[in-house]
Amino acid sequence: MTDTALPAASGAVQPNRRQTKLEPWQDPGEAPYVRIEGVSKTFGAFTAVDDVSLSIYRGELFSLLGGSGCGKTTLLRMLAGFEQPTAGHIYIDGVDMSEIPPYERPVNMMFQSYALFPHMTVEQNVAFGLHQDRVPGAEIRHRVTEALELVKLAPQRKRKPHQLSGGQRQRVALARSLVKRPKLLLLDEPLAALDRKLREETQFELVNIQEQVGITFVMVTHDQEEAMTMSSRIAVMDAGWIVQVGTPAEIYEYPQSRFVAEFIGQVNLFGGRVVEDAADHVVVAADAAGTEIEVSHAGSVPIGTRVHVAVRPEKMAIAKDPPADPRNAVQGTVDEIAYLGNASIYLIRLADGSMVRVTAPNVTRMTELPITWEDAVHVTWPAFAGVILQT
Ligand code: ATP
Repeated sequence: MTDTALPAASGAVQPNRRQTKLEPWQDPGEAPYVRIEGVSKTFGAFTAVDDVSLSIYRGELFSLLGGSGCGKTTLLRMLAGFEQPTAGHIYIDGVDMSEIPPYERPVNMMFQSYALFPHMTVEQNVAFGLHQDRVPGAEIRHRVTEALELVKLAPQRKRKPHQLSGGQRQRVALARSLVKRPKLLLLDEPLAALDRKLREETQFELVNIQEQVGITFVMVTHDQEEAMTMSSRIAVMDAGWIVQVGTPAEIYEYPQSRFVAEFIGQVNLFGGRVVEDAADHVVVAADAAGTEIEVSHAGSVPIGTRVHVAVRPEKMAIAKDPPADPRNAVQGTVDEIAYLGNASIYLIRLADGSMVRVTAPNVTRMTELPITWEDAVHVTWPAFAGVILQT
């Protein structure tokens, strides 16, 4: 077990993660801290995790993201040692975990339910694991104080769980996990019990704390916004498989499949066939929209290949006047407008009945917006906005 001291919380909010140097997964000299190699888990005839291989590096906040039943919790439980893989190996810090029981792994797991002891105070809850490990009293006091300061709960140390808010209970659970100084902290839907506003605030707090303590976090979530806000990298899972691994920006900007494009955020998908494959762009004749779509930086895709072009709604513009260039443009009528305050969502019905979604920031006041229901409009987007998907 490591004995790195936990630095005190700064209280500063730093949205998203700061990039200061070459990221470890881009550095060929960096050894992964957690290596999952060909891991599968079957329950009877059912395969919950199917031949998963992943490398997670020291200091990452790595998210396993996917819908219900995709196998993410099962994978987390195998890291903790609560489940044994049916096939494959898990290495933590270079050590094969096959024969290592949960309590001997350098790992702690924070459960969704927190499982706080209701009759104990905050500090007794946090100290509990250290008493069990027979840590000397003076050190327990020191480490508990440090952990409570880190999660900003020192003033509430004498309270019992029922005297705390949901967010405070979540922080007690976090302090209780961190006080044991694991090298790897596993978090199963850590913010699921919090309401939306508190969840957003706590996301930032968790990232700040993780950056301060430098412990590697692996988090399970089904909430794509949460994964996008907090993670160094995300593994998107579907039916026991990892379908894509990447930074939040890579996953959002360069999804490799329709599944990922649709799972992360909103997207417009145009089916079509490649009609031009040039050095710096590809042109797709879209079926339904009856338009040609140019995609820059698409790589080479042979002429005739059936593809989908994914375009994010915020990369599209909407206007009443026809564009000068007929490429990357579709026509339709405004079917719905949802006013969200900072932005509006427009649903545009095309001639074939399909819908295109456009998000436009509200830089002018709602009453001044020139576009309204039933208007005939043109939707356009630049060539760099599209992504070609072959699966
Ligand atoms: P959720 O977000 O709903 O918790 P998940 O992605 O975490 O979903 P898992 O808990 O990993 O999903 O479960 C994956 C699949 O394996 C599910 O279909 C589940 O029913 C099944 N499963 C999990 N544990 C067992 C078990 N002990 N016995 C049989 N089937 C199981």
